[in-house]
Amino acid sequence: MGLLSLGTPLDWDDAVPLAQHVRDHGVEQFLALWRHFRGRTGDTMSWGDELEYMIVALDRPHHAARLSLRQGEILSVLQNCAEVSKERSSPTFHPEYGRYMIESTPGKPFSADPSDLLRVEEDMRVRRMIIRKHLKENEIPMTLTSFPRLGVSDAPFTDPPFEPNGPASRSLFLPDDLINTHVRFPTLTANIRKRRGSKVRINVPIYHDENTARPFIDPTIPYDRNLFPEDSEAKLGAARPDSIYMDAMGFGMGCCCLQVTMQAEEILEARKLYDQLIPVTPLLLAVSAGSPLYRGYLADVDCRWNVISGAVDDRTNAERGEAPVKPDEPMHNSRTGPRRLRKSRYDSVDSYLHPDAPREDNDMALEIDPAVRDRLQAEGVDPLLAEHVAHLFVRDPLVIFSELIHQDDKESNDHFENLQSTNWQTMRFKPPPPGDRIGWRVEFRPMEIQLTDFENAAFSVFVVLLARAILHFRLNLYMPLSQVDVNMQRAQQRDAIHTQKFYFCNSWTSESKETVSRSIREYTLAQLFHGDGSEKMVGFVPLVHRYLDTLQLDEATRKQLNSYVDLVGERADGTLMTAATWMRRFVGSHPLYKHDSVISEELNYEVPPVHHG
Ligand code: GLU
Ligand code: MG
Repeated sequence: MGLLSLGTPLDWDDAVPLAQHVRDHGVEQFLALWRHFRGRTGDTMSWGDELEYMIVALDRPHHAARLSLRQGEILSVLQNCAEVSKERSSPTFHPEYGRYMIESTPGKPFSADPSDLLRVEEDMRVRRMIIRKHLKENEIPMTLTSFPRLGVSDAPFTDPPFEPNGPASRSLFLPDDLINTHVRFPTLTANIRKRRGSKVRINVPIYHDENTARPFIDPTIPYDRNLFPEDSEAKLGAARPDSIYMDAMGFGMGCCCLQVTMQAEEILEARKLYDQLIPVTPLLLAVSAGSPLYRGYLADVDCRWNVISGAVDDRTNAERGEAPVKPDEPMHNSRTGPRRLRKSRYDSVDSYLHPDAPREDNDMALEIDPAVRDRLQAEGVDPLLAEHVAHLFVRDPLVIFSELIHQDDKESNDHFENLQSTNWQTMRFKPPPPGDRIGWRVEFRPMEIQLTDFENAAFSVFVVLLARAILHFRLNLYMPLSQVDVNMQRAQQRDAIHTQKFYFCNSWTSESKETVSRSIREYTLAQLFHGDGSEKMVGFVPLVHRYLDTLQLDEATRKQLNSYVDLVGERADGTLMTAATWMRRFVGSHPLYKHDSVISEELNYEVPPVHHG
């Protein structure tokens, strides 16, 4: 998750006076890249996935599964091991936020050619095998979005165990020792808390089962019960009734996901792909749903999105609109600082980027740093792109390394990346880095990680094929961003596939508005993925099949690609269960479960992926 600069990170108080310097130079660095690469063209669509794993340590005699905090040791072995160094195309392994997490990427990007798409699953399998080979006998690499017992109070959930309430998170539940030990991560954690002026606050609705108390007041939170008359939410403070309360960055950034980054032919194609995939993000979040369990409880949501969003929400009370803005309030972006910020840094996209984007669909009140926009526009950057960057730059840089304050803006993109890589949105628009190897890219970020390599390959390949199909058939999926946001919330609801409808455009053709009547309607995921019977709203699965039809594939290739497309389609229409539903059912029907929403240590151990990982 972002840049791993080496050096000495500044404490928040020392970083504040330098924030403007980082922004000023970040803009110049963006400009240097834009000037250099704006005319770059002819890149092929290559792409890569990122898989995030948690390393789980089994304590078989005690029937316990815990998070193994051996990231550092494991990575140092993986990064030097024979399989990895031998060949240039061998996979690469990276650190992630949690000290129990590892990320893998293909050693070399895939192309969008069908023959390459067939390599993905095997590549993922090899990566898992390599990791596995270098773990202890009782450790397993698991692709699980949220660890069910992260942050429980009744038994250790890490191996080795540690006490909570460290100086970075100050969490009631999570020890700082589970944060990646690279200085960036504890500093990021502490600086989010310090900028915000309080701990982060996440309340996920609990799933009320037959034996769950109503209201549910979490007995494991160390508070004074006398302070909490049920009817007074204010007095409950941070932890709300009927919720699973979490108070640290680790609850969010300790989740695992599946991301796909695709290179476009040139900047405008990247902007088109970025825009066209935005409306798809909530839908693939819902279909990939895999995280119904948090802090030892069964939640009433199926996805991680709001949890991470809350976990890195560094906005002050005033910026969140929870306190009046005081005239002397220190705004770190003091030159321009907007007094309200509607969203966390980890959230959905706020503006379309392609010049053809219908104005009325770009309907979010975009908070921008006007000086950034003006600087970019003065250099010839068009308004949409200038505002996109100016929107990213309303945030403060969270971690500044003292050794990296002064940079050559023509050579380095470090200050730009400082802000870019801590704006964690559903899509990310990525300018080429310095050097000439890489073109304009977009990253598709909403999906939850799947339990098996087959599923992860299926979802990744599906996204790539959908992107190809969108470009090939020149589709127009624009819809108001405010409605994409409504879809983001619906996507996370329990069993969204059966209970929710999603706003989407009823006509996907690229014909102009004058000739086609377009409107936004509400559809089930089954309709969106399989079509509503009309030629105008074909459905993603038939669309991808039509695209595959244009490629004249041999039977074996088509069959395998179909198996990926079918998996996603069958998840979307409920023929197959999402990982979230599957885990819910597993818990719900397990003899160790007492129908009280509690995931005990023994039950956690039973969750099947532990054994099949
Ligand atoms: N693990 C984060 C997630 O689940 C993403 C971190 C990253 O951007 O790599 O969304
Ligand atoms: Mg990552």
